[in-house]
Amino acid sequence: MTGLEFLAPEHRNLFIGGEWRDADGGERFDVLDPADGSVLADVADASVADSVEALDAAVGAQAAWGRTPPRERGEILRRAFELIASRADGFATLMSLEMGKTVAEAKGEVSYGNEFFRWYSEEAVRIHGRWMQAPAGGSRLLTIKKPVGPCLFVTPWNFPLAMGTRKIGPAIAAGCTMVVKPAAQTPLTMLALAAVLAEAGLPDGVLNVVTTKRAGKVSEALQADDRLRKISFTGSTGIGKVLVRQSADQLQRVSMELGGNAPFLVFEDADVDAAVDGAMIAKMRNMGEACTAANRFLVHSSVAEEFGHKLADRMGALKLGRGQETGVDVGPLIDENAVESVGQLVTDAVHDGAKVVVGGSAPDGPGYFYEPTVLLDVPADSAINSEEIFGPVAPITAFDTEEQAIERANATEYGLASYVYTRDLARTIRMAESLEFGMIGVNTGLVSNPAAPFGGVKQSGFGREGGFEGIEEYLDTTYVSLPAD
Ligand code: NAP
Repeated sequence: MTGLEFLAPEHRNLFIGGEWRDADGGERFDVLDPADGSVLADVADASVADSVEALDAAVGAQAAWGRTPPRERGEILRRAFELIASRADGFATLMSLEMGKTVAEAKGEVSYGNEFFRWYSEEAVRIHGRWMQAPAGGSRLLTIKKPVGPCLFVTPWNFPLAMGTRKIGPAIAAGCTMVVKPAAQTPLTMLALAAVLAEAGLPDGVLNVVTTKRAGKVSEALQADDRLRKISFTGSTGIGKVLVRQSADQLQRVSMELGGNAPFLVFEDADVDAAVDGAMIAKMRNMGEACTAANRFLVHSSVAEEFGHKLADRMGALKLGRGQETGVDVGPLIDENAVESVGQLVTDAVHDGAKVVVGGSAPDGPGYFYEPTVLLDVPADSAINSEEIFGPVAPITAFDTEEQAIERANATEYGLASYVYTRDLARTIRMAESLEFGMIGVNTGLVSNPAAPFGGVKQSGFGREGGFEGIEEYLDTTYVSLPAD
């Protein structure tokens, strides 16, 4: 038993119109194990024509699905939620194999990702418009909500389940159909998810999955098609901009969950031990490969050394290894490029004057590992403070005043997550109002919550996933004017 058997061989294919099928021409590509670079499995490599067939299926299913009673849509999501919960171990092991994270972390993602199905199974029946008297009288104003229509979802490799459920959950609840293109490095979890949704009774064509190595050509073709009404993307800011440009011709609705550069602020009045606990979560969740990962530790100069050494003790005690082995805390990064780019940022920071307190290199041997690393005295203008690290490295830069902390925290084109450790209520309010980020965690290292609106400002994108806001991304408003006299 390797864990791969959780995804049946017939499901390692395209899922179009309720059928599992080969790619046109039978092409396939390999999925690799980041712990040693070996081949785990292969999946169908969709052509542009296959992807257009997936859109045909989504378009064909749209009208009936949009008319399906909300309770029925919600109950399908609820059944899928129960099935996923009962198979959490299988999902977690499969995800760990293709992505590298530990099985324990993967279970956390299954539970977090699955909550979007539960939340939106409950929200499907609360879609509503409003009714009001026109201010001048004489007519009544009615608004009704309608599904946006067929959507394209493009998801990244770092959270193979949750980045899908955050889009699929509200889309199903709202009555939209969809084509999903998962990351080529981690397609297996999404295929397993599609199988569960089919088992839960999702009608054919509502959800279609195309695995492909031709992401650019597929998105270009689908976005050029006037039947596609929305694109929702999670990934890098660079690709996000390409997709926003491509959305212009057909004026598709767009949701963009893009990169981050989260500051983690520790003030002189903070509980330093609690800040270290929070830092371990904000930095080490998903090996640092998260858009919400703390990227820059801005710590008051009076506590910077204490914070740095306590964090280094905790980071240095973590065990690296294959994510499916017991006792392992930190799995491999996704690929060799990731290890190289993390290593380069550390080398540059050291060249700029940073001190390595713990870690600082990639261990010898197979797999794409990088040691948990803490850097002290990192100059504010070092590249590691402006680029997304996407690895287990915590660079610490000291500050002296609150104004300096705010200025440095906001000195980034990104605006996704931020973290603040302080025990001063007035300061907390000043931070909430001054930090230019879509999400602010106060005395916590974890902000993600399916009931909250997840999303960014500036170049971290626009649109929200989760919460009451998340379903609005999939609904259009029609206003009806009714004469009353
Ligand atoms: P990426 O390179 O942008 O890839 C994301 C997805 O886009 C993958 O499915 C990829 O397919 C696809 N893609 C690549 N080129 C494309 C193109 N020209 N047209 C259409 N699709 C294309 O990002 P990544 O490296 O996988 O993910 C890491 C990034 O995602 C980080 O910047 C991270 O911060 C961000 N992220 C953001 C959030 C958020 O909610 N804000 C959450 C998680 C991650 P292939 O796999 O085939 O290349």
